[in-house]
Amino acid sequence: MMRNLRLCFGPLQIKLILIERTNSVGLELSLFIGAFGLIIGSFLNVVIYRMPRGESVAYPGSHCPTCGHMLRAWELIPVLSYLILGGRCAKCREKISIRYPLFELTNGLLYFFAAWQDTTGSFLQLGVNLVFLSVLLVLAGIDWDTYRLPDIFTLPLLGIGLVAGFLLPGDPSGWVSLGSALGVGGFFWLIALVYPKGMGLGDVKLIAALGAFLGFPKVLLALFIASLAGSIIGGSMLLLKQKGFREQIPFGPYLVLGAWIAFFWGDALVTYYLSTF
Ligand SMILES: [Zn+2]
Repeated sequence: MMRNLRLCFGPLQIKLILIERTNSVGLELSLFIGAFGLIIGSFLNVVIYRMPRGESVAYPGSHCPTCGHMLRAWELIPVLSYLILGGRCAKCREKISIRYPLFELTNGLLYFFAAWQDTTGSFLQLGVNLVFLSVLLVLAGIDWDTYRLPDIFTLPLLGIGLVAGFLLPGDPSGWVSLGSALGVGGFFWLIALVYPKGMGLGDVKLIAALGAFLGFPKVLLALFIASLAGSIIGGSMLLLKQKGFREQIPFGPYLVLGAWIAFFWGDALVTYYLSTF
């Protein structure tokens, strides 16, 4: 159910759209799922670091990359350990990247909000959504580090998106999911063929997966946000180019940012956009 509110501030007219909905997952369970997301986020950091190096994600246990110090249980608490340790290794005092607690926190927030805003009442759908959001986080991290979006993540993401479209409740439906994946995937595949320097095939596979998960028109919103963020952030990095700034910025993290925004606020943003006509 939707309700439009028009507020007038002198010559400025601002239209707010309130979407009334019923949450199928209560606050307590959403918080619990969010806490679970923090722990999963900690594991995702390991995956992002080790997968591109061809190392096992299970063995050996987490350790400091500088001195090899094996982390004890209390040093493995997501976000908190980083704060307690002051962002440094307990043994050699080498700085730990802020990215670790940041990614843990991000994954926790993604899980909380995915649960909190779920309206399908299907825990299978919620589970698939959590996998989607987390795999995107992994892809953003790996692309940032290595300029690659490995098939081992993009292709299963595409597959799960299509299967979920056909088998699970909620948007998009199977045919919309398939059509969107083929539509945006095919379009950007052509671009990659014509202009291979501008877009890699990894980007194309990720875009197809986003089409499968988000469907039309939300995938277009994700692409729009990604391009906008890419030009603003990439452009200002180029302008401010200093020593140590990277020449090339991967597109994957922007696609992930666009996909997250479209996933959480896509319906409201698309409705708002259409209501302005
Ligand atoms: Zn150390």
